[in-house]
Amino acid sequence: MRVLVGAFSMESNTFAPGATTLDDLRAQMFGVGSDLHRDFLGAESELAGAWSVLDASGHEIVPSFAAWSGPGRPLAPGVLPEIVRLVLAPCDDTIDGAYLMLHGACVAHDADDPEGVILDALREQLGPDRPIVVSLDCHANLTRRMVAAADAFTAYRTCPHIDTRRTGEQAARILCDILAGSIRPVIAVATRPMITPPELHDSTRDPFRRLMALNDEAEADGLVASALLPVQPWVDLPELSWKCVVTADGDAAAAQRAAEWIMDEAWSEREVFLGGVRLPVDDALATALAQASPCVVADAGDATNGGSIGDSTELLRASLRAGAQAVLLSIRDAGAAQAATRAGEGATVELMLGSGEPGAYNERTNVTATVKRLFDGDVVYTHPVNRGYRAATGQAALVSVDGVDAVVHSLSVGVIDPALYEALGADPSAYAVLQAKSHISFKAGFAHLTDRSVVADTPGPTTCNLPTLPYSRRPRPLYPFEDVDY
Ligand SMILES: [Zn+2]
Repeated sequence: MRVLVGAFSMESNTFAPGATTLDDLRAQMFGVGSDLHRDFLGAESELAGAWSVLDASGHEIVPSFAAWSGPGRPLAPGVLPEIVRLVLAPCDDTIDGAYLMLHGACVAHDADDPEGVILDALREQLGPDRPIVVSLDCHANLTRRMVAAADAFTAYRTCPHIDTRRTGEQAARILCDILAGSIRPVIAVATRPMITPPELHDSTRDPFRRLMALNDEAEADGLVASALLPVQPWVDLPELSWKCVVTADGDAAAAQRAAEWIMDEAWSEREVFLGGVRLPVDDALATALAQASPCVVADAGDATNGGSIGDSTELLRASLRAGAQAVLLSIRDAGAAQAATRAGEGATVELMLGSGEPGAYNERTNVTATVKRLFDGDVVYTHPVNRGYRAATGQAALVSVDGVDAVVHSLSVGVIDPALYEALGADPSAYAVLQAKSHISFKAGFAHLTDRSVVADTPGPTTCNLPTLPYSRRPRPLYPFEDVDY
C-alpha cells in the first residue's frame, strides 16, 4: 500500500515575544518530497523508526514534508498554511494511509492548534476510512481537534527523550495493523487540571519513571497504545493540561478506563512535581564553581529547549558580580554578534548584551570584550537524540569578558549539548561552568563531559515558577494556580 509520511516537530512558547518565520524553519531541518529519506531527521528519530517499519512491511513510502525546529516563538502568520500545503502536496486517491511525526505543542499567531489544523486538512483529503497514525512528544498539548482527526497516537515515554525511534516504530506498526484490517482503533482521552514544570519530568527518577511505566502496563494488558502526556506548560491555551491518550482495538470503554487510571495516578503525584531543587542564580553559580570541573548550570528561565529566546543575561551578570572565572555561556543577540564581527578577531570591543530594562531577565549589560573567534555557519548537534541536526547561527562570535567566555549569536540555537560552544572553537572540558538551556534534556547532551549539574532558578519565558508568568487563556481552575478539588 502507499503510505504518506511526513513530519513537523516544533514546540512553541507563548510567553516568548515575536514569531518563528518560515526562514527560521528553513535555517534548521527542512525538506520536501524527494529530499526526504529514512534518516533525514537522524537515525534515532521517530521518522527513521516509522520509515524502517513501513519499509520492512512492504509498503510504498510517499514522502511529503519534514521539518524539525528547536522550540521557539509561535509561528508567524502565514507559515502554517504553507506547512499544510507541503504536507498535503502528494495526497491523491492512491494514498492508503498516513503517518505523521508531530510534536504536538506548536502554536501559531494565526492558530492555537497547528497540529490540529494539519491533521484536519489531512483527514479532509483522505476521507474517514483511510487511517492516520501520529507520534508525539510527550510534552504535546493534545487537543480535541487532533484526537478527532487521527486514528491512533503514540508518544515518548522517556525524558530526556531517548525513545524517539521506538515511538515512531510503534506508530508505524499500528498503522500497518490498521491497513491489514487486523485492528479497529478507538481512542480515549483522560484529562486532569494540572500542569507542572518539566524539571522533574525525568524518566530516570520516580514518580515520572513510575507513571510512564504505566503505559507499558496498559499495553501489556492488551491496549494498542498508551501515551501519558505531561504537556509542556508554557503554552497559554484553553486546553492546557496533562492528558493521557489510549488507543484500543475496538473497546472504547477499556481505553477510557486505562486513560483514567493513569491520570488518577498522575494526579496523585502532582505536588511532587513542584518539588524541584532550584537555586537562585548566584547560589547556583557558587555551587557549580565549588564542584569538580566542568559543572553544568541549567538556565531554567532561558531554556531555548522550552522555547525561550536565548537572550538572558542572568548568568552573565551573576558571573561578573561574583568575579567567576572559566564560565562558558551563550547569549542570542544579533546586534552584539554584528558588532563583534565588525571589530574582528583579536579586537577589543564595547558590547551591549541583552535588550531588556533593568530588572528584566535579559537586562542590558554593557561589557568590554575581546573577540576570540568569529563564526557564521551551522551548529551540528551532538545530543544523542538530535545528533546530526543542524541550526544556523547567523553571525556569531566567541567573546571574552573578565573570565567569562560568551558565544553571542544571531539566530535561534539550542544549548542541549556543547555543539554551539564547539562550533566557536571553545573546548568545553577546559571550563569550570557550562551553561545549558534546558531543564532535563541537557543531561543526555552533556553526559560525555560531566554528570554534575545545578538548575538555576532564573526568570524568563521558561521559568519553573509557573505562577509568575502572565497566563490569561489557560483553563481555570488549574493546578498549581488554584486549589483544585478533582
Ligand atoms: Zn518534550
